Amino acid sequence: MKLNKSDKEVNYVAQQITQLRQKTLKNRKKWSAQNLNKPVAFWTKTERLLNEIGKEFTIILRTRGCEWALKHGGCSMCGYIEDAAIENVESSHIISQFDYAINQTVNKIKNSNDRYVLKIFNSGSFFDDNEITSVVREHIYRKIAEIREITEFSMESRVEYITQDKLDQINQFIPDKHVEVGIGLESVTNHIRNTYINKNVSYADFIESINLCARNRIGSKIYLLFKPPFLNEQAAIDDCASSIKEISNLKVNTISINPCNIQKGSLIEYLWYTNRYRPPWFYSLFDCFKMALTPQTLKKIRILCDPSGAGSKRGIHNCLRKTCNEKMKHSLREFVFHQDLSQLDQIDYDCVCKKKYEIIRSS
Ligand code: SF4
Ligand SMILES: [Zn+2]
Repeated sequence: MKLNKSDKEVNYVAQQITQLRQKTLKNRKKWSAQNLNKPVAFWTKTERLLNEIGKEFTIILRTRGCEWALKHGGCSMCGYIEDAAIENVESSHIISQFDYAINQTVNKIKNSNDRYVLKIFNSGSFFDDNEITSVVREHIYRKIAEIREITEFSMESRVEYITQDKLDQINQFIPDKHVEVGIGLESVTNHIRNTYINKNVSYADFIESINLCARNRIGSKIYLLFKPPFLNEQAAIDDCASSIKEISNLKVNTISINPCNIQKGSLIEYLWYTNRYRPPWFYSLFDCFKMALTPQTLKKIRILCDPSGAGSKRGIHNCLRKTCNEKMKHSLREFVFHQDLSQLDQIDYDCVCKKKYEIIRSS
């Protein structure tokens, strides 16, 4: 993977991230064996499935953490390394984490009338053997195959770990479920992705990965970051809208939009503390969707958006009035559940912050 990382700005962002990350990693406590036998978190809630409204069952596994973050500081908005073990986690521990979440939830899933998507996150790459071994992946796949109500499965990985053998293993054990590999592209613009976000992913490698998935009849879910650092509201709308339009023409099944939130230990957090970054406004996100999407696109591609920290200072928000954010959150949820753009206009509340927003949108 060859990336053009020579200008001063690249060096500045990358250096800042490396320094911040080193500080975080130095102060990290060691996880006890007992903690390593339970996942970081797991939950179920309503989610848009491929063709209907159903439920998600999400499990966050604790692994050693993302290689890109451990070795090179990682991406400017990412603080996932805070949840990671930093040191190698034995396969037996990861299997215990997964089994714990499954055992606590399986009856609920089996007794429900809903279909489920199982989402596994490991704050890194599911296909990186240093985080999750092939033995663990096989254990997970066998379990998924046994639970009829789980009709979809998704995980995420950086492109460098998505290889033929990883996809073969999925097709061997779970050939009958809809599987999506989540890939963080963040933006179709190289400069934004690799300079402002420090993603270190080339567009050519991304295209190769989604084509590999498609050739293996495995779906892909593309993550886009809404409002990366160093972009104002208008630039964020333009960047994300052009990314959605371009990605919609590729062989992908889902686009998941992540409005940027302030994660602990990230470069974004540092910029936020020093008044050089504000999380996006809901108004911007809604305008972006209206600019980029049509009912035809929504028939072809599923759009997901479930922002972390929505309505709070660290997440996407308008003003901090509760009603203002609650109304926006409700419309966003309805839009995603029904894949229906008209839901974004059904807000029976006109907040005074709209005028302030119009003024600062392009500033
Ligand atoms: S966003 Fe993904 S690739 Fe980037 S540092 Fe975080 S876990 Fe690693
Ligand atoms: Zn408001």
